[in-house]
Amino acid sequence: MIGAIGTPVWEATAQPGPTTAPLKSGATTDVVIVGAGFLGLSAAAALASAGVDVIVLDAGDIGAGASGRNAGFVVPHFSRADPAELAQRLSQRAAEQTLGLLESGADRVFALATEAGLGRQAEQVGWLQPAHEPASADLLQKRVAMWQARGRPVRWLDRAEVAERTGTSGYFGALEDASGGMINPLAFARALARRAIAAGVQLHTRTTAMDIATDGNAHTLRLSTGATVRATRVLLASNAGTTGAARKLGQSVLPLSVYQIATEPLPAETVARIAPRRQPVSDTRTNIFTYRLDADNRLISGGMALIPYAAERRMARRIAERLAQQLDLGSVPQIDAVWRGTAAMTRDGLPLLTTAGAGIFGAVGCNGRGVAFTTVLGEALGNWMAAGADPNEAPLPLLPSRALPLRGLARWAPSLVLLRGILAERGATARAE
Ligand SMILES: Cc1cc2nc3c(=O)[nH]c(=O)nc-3n(C[C@H](O)[C@H](O)[C@H](O)COP(=O)(O)OP(=O)(O)OC[C@H]3O[C@@H](n4cnc5c(N)ncnc54)[C@H](O)[C@@H]3O)c2cc1C
Repeated sequence: MIGAIGTPVWEATAQPGPTTAPLKSGATTDVVIVGAGFLGLSAAAALASAGVDVIVLDAGDIGAGASGRNAGFVVPHFSRADPAELAQRLSQRAAEQTLGLLESGADRVFALATEAGLGRQAEQVGWLQPAHEPASADLLQKRVAMWQARGRPVRWLDRAEVAERTGTSGYFGALEDASGGMINPLAFARALARRAIAAGVQLHTRTTAMDIATDGNAHTLRLSTGATVRATRVLLASNAGTTGAARKLGQSVLPLSVYQIATEPLPAETVARIAPRRQPVSDTRTNIFTYRLDADNRLISGGMALIPYAAERRMARRIAERLAQQLDLGSVPQIDAVWRGTAAMTRDGLPLLTTAGAGIFGAVGCNGRGVAFTTVLGEALGNWMAAGADPNEAPLPLLPSRALPLRGLARWAPSLVLLRGILAERGATARAE
């Protein structure tokens, strides 16, 4: 028996958000932001705090996209690129800017959560990345050295330490980042919305931006409600969305369906064994294994489906069975909720800032590790736009907006990578037996 199908557990555990309504009459403002997720709401608060008039629109409710549907791991690391790779791929200035945002992300999220009084819905207890094979342990140890050289609170845990922290003995060591942790993401999105409104932002939900027409220096957005908004600048914070005005930005990324489950609350002795310090865990497998606790000691875990359509029940069972097996739970836990979200993957795994003409910007900071990054990227973009949006001062390299070539086919790429990961894992298990 599965409790809720399709609704994130966070709907049951987050404090209610502010009251919002669709925008039904015409309006004029300095900046329109499309998307009320972490990115759009953080940018809006920064702009309004600098005295800029801002309207935020969302097709759904606050946090309707990835921000209210994610797993809430607060991780100040990209999934692939480390400092050495960033130095290789970006100019020195861009690499430093990107690393600066990345490194400040988790502390900023927890500072905002504290300010908002989120209490046990936000826990800065550190984040663990255990190595599932010796080669990953080598790579992670190199990364630990890189982060330590930058003064980050990152250390290497040996096999015994990681076994003590996870209650499992199969890992070859782990990277620990003390600045990471976990959050109730919907509670956080709602807190950002309250903060933005308090700073003077007009926030309208259930209002889709259908298209943008540019006339001289002004942009007019036609809305699903029949109203229009005129603005001198537009920020598309619509992530993987492809509806209406979000289409062009959405086509520059690959959508990745991710399934999440929340189990029933675990007994205290199991919590003490698998997470004695309550630290969230994401390992190094391609078919990544993750788990964390929520404030009520439910286990939150996730996975990707090879065929990511209507797979909630199937994925819920598979994820729960994997939890039971990896964490030696004795039996498969009851499932309180299963839901799906869409993550936006950029071609190079790095965040993306684009421009689609004078005064229209789009940003994606996701790649499955966006809780911390999009929060600080939003603030940086808001401050940059408030200061005049000089392209030379942009917080990330500013690129022309461009759809991914062969996107229709490319959207199957994550399934192929996942299939390779699953086969590699089966091969390793068979060799070990
Ligand atoms: C299932 C899942 C699990 C994840 N787990 C983690 C995790 O544990 N840790 C982590 O760091 N990251 C995680 N991520 C990534 C993280 O959730 C995202 O990077 C982050 O939430 C992106 O925030 P955003 O504001 O850019 O976009 P979103 O939160 O997706 O916001 C975009 C908004 O734009 C709106 N929109 C789109 N088009 C229009 C339009 N035309 N008009 C009006 N509104 C529009 C949408 O309704 C949506 O609310 C996960 C993602 C998913 C999907």
